[in-house]
Amino acid sequence: MKQNSKKSSAHPFEMRECHTESAGLFFKTGRILCRLTSPFQKIEIFENPTYGRVLMLDGLVQTTEKDEHFYHEMLVHPALASHPEPQDILVIGGGDGGVLKEIYKYPIRECCLVEIDALVMEAAEKYFPWLPQVKGKKGLSLIVEDGRKFIEQTDRMFDVVIIDSSDPVGPSSVLHEKTFFERIKKRLNPSGIVAGQMGSPLFDLPEIKKKQGFFLNIFPVVRFYTGPVPTYPGGLWSYVFLSEKARPLDIRREPPPDLKFYTREVHEAAFALPQFMKDELSDKKPAD
Ligand code: SAM
Repeated sequence: MKQNSKKSSAHPFEMRECHTESAGLFFKTGRILCRLTSPFQKIEIFENPTYGRVLMLDGLVQTTEKDEHFYHEMLVHPALASHPEPQDILVIGGGDGGVLKEIYKYPIRECCLVEIDALVMEAAEKYFPWLPQVKGKKGLSLIVEDGRKFIEQTDRMFDVVIIDSSDPVGPSSVLHEKTFFERIKKRLNPSGIVAGQMGSPLFDLPEIKKKQGFFLNIFPVVRFYTGPVPTYPGGLWSYVFLSEKARPLDIRREPPPDLKFYTREVHEAAFALPQFMKDELSDKKPAD
């Protein structure tokens, strides 16, 4: 979620993402593997000597081979480690498949991923290993739909909901609204947990604070946490853990093997917010 990001300017053999008017990230591009415009967004996948394959949507970095685990592990494991028995999982967004790779490291019953853009899944399946790794897994359903429409229409209940949305612009904007989270809450089983990416604490703190305002009116437990993501604006990323009663530091299980970033200690430390976030994010429930 990169409020300040401006569109990329694709210089010959160089892709740029402006994080503010005066700073950003650039990639020297090797092979351009995919460049197309879907009904929802521009989809680009290219190779970069430093970060490997890079997926950009509307000129904004979504994931890179080199640092994908910083993000996908921190979005998934705090919730799955803290749920008493995570069986039925919902993913909204996440069409690149990176979160599915992490979810299927647990003995779950069913996982339903709802991605609005079939072309993102098609391109990701061709150029990243994650979707092919999980296709055919027990209980996996991949649904091409607007996540908000899905949550309005489904009668299914879930133990954990992972919101792997892009920025609150374009198709993703509906996934950042209060009504969306109110509807998600109605689809949670009693010990249910929601984990979502909340954007850059450096550039998006007012937006994060605004969301905290309505989270506190919907969920009894609202806990933000952070973790580094080198290719995201500001290099530090934020997430939120929402639940009726499950607590983020009530860790129920050891991490699955072969992770590259998440550990129990990283989990615990992630919920210790830096001072500038503590100053901004009071945990007082705002008046309705
Ligand atoms: N990790 C990335 C980040 O933090 O910016 C986001 C990962 S993933 C690529 C975001 C996905 O959300 C995209 O594939 C996009 O098509 C999908 N998406 C956007 N709006 C959506 C909606 N309303 N319903 C379902 N999926 C949506």
